[in-house]
Amino acid sequence: MSLSSSPVVFVTGAGRGIGRAMADAHADAGAAVAYVDFDPALAEEAANAAALRGVKAVGLAADVADYAAVEAAASAAVAALGPVTVLVNNAGISPKGGADGRRAEAPDMDPAEWRRVIDVNLTGAFNCVRALSPGMKALGQGRIINISSVAGRTYCDIVGVHYAASKAALIGFTKHLAGELGPYGITVNAIAPGRIDTPMVRGTATAANEAVRLVTPLRRLGQPEEVAEVCRFLSSDAAAFVTGQVIDVAGGWLMT
Ligand code: NAP
Repeated sequence: MSLSSSPVVFVTGAGRGIGRAMADAHADAGAAVAYVDFDPALAEEAANAAALRGVKAVGLAADVADYAAVEAAASAAVAALGPVTVLVNNAGISPKGGADGRRAEAPDMDPAEWRRVIDVNLTGAFNCVRALSPGMKALGQGRIINISSVAGRTYCDIVGVHYAASKAALIGFTKHLAGELGPYGITVNAIAPGRIDTPMVRGTATAANEAVRLVTPLRRLGQPEEVAEVCRFLSSDAAAFVTGQVIDVAGGWLMT
């Protein structure tokens, strides 16, 4: 089933990085977009920039880990733009609270840091699905795109076990929801980016990023816009029969 000709897209973590690129790509293709971010200034700036380009956009502040805040943002998005037809669960964190700015190893990890990563990266996606999928079911159409990671599919020494576990869980979350929501005309897919040049990655030691570059067949980091193109494909009519899939955008880093 094809999506409505004027999609309404709700992107979390849309203030910068991959989320911003995915939100902008949809906005520039004619969608109305809710830019949702933890940081109200970032959300507003991104939405204002889109509005200046003639796009129907709204900037909303919400911590995705907080269901009440997500519900409020979802209601505000629907009030401003109409029923949401595309949800992009992108907000994510990858704390490097260990020695020398590296990720802590499991036994040394602060349990509060573990809980926060699971709350943001995994429960955040659940909260958004909980708030927005009933509207999609009522419409009989919808697209949900979850941003996982190559680090959820194989060992990556840059990230912590909390991050890897949350991103692996998002893959199971994706496949299960694809089964549950498919009968309502809703597709659910995941994207697993490799190393993408964003503020999150620029906060990591250069040597760590260089090590990934060297094992990546395309010998470079990806750009946020390259993830955004795949996200746009998954929300487009061209992907109407694609669901429950994980698409790597990783320059060939992991070929399984
Ligand atoms: P980023 O540059 O750090 O941007 C993430 C955005 O999400 C920030 O604007 C951040 O806002 C927001 N955010 C963080 N916690 C949030 C929360 N609780 N509620 C709402 N928004 C929140 O990260 P990125 O590199 O673009 O990554 C985006 C997604 O792709 C993440 O899920 C990440 O795990 C995934 N990913 C990235 C890479 C990569 O190489 N970059 C690879 C694989 C997967 P604040 O700054 O205000 O916190």
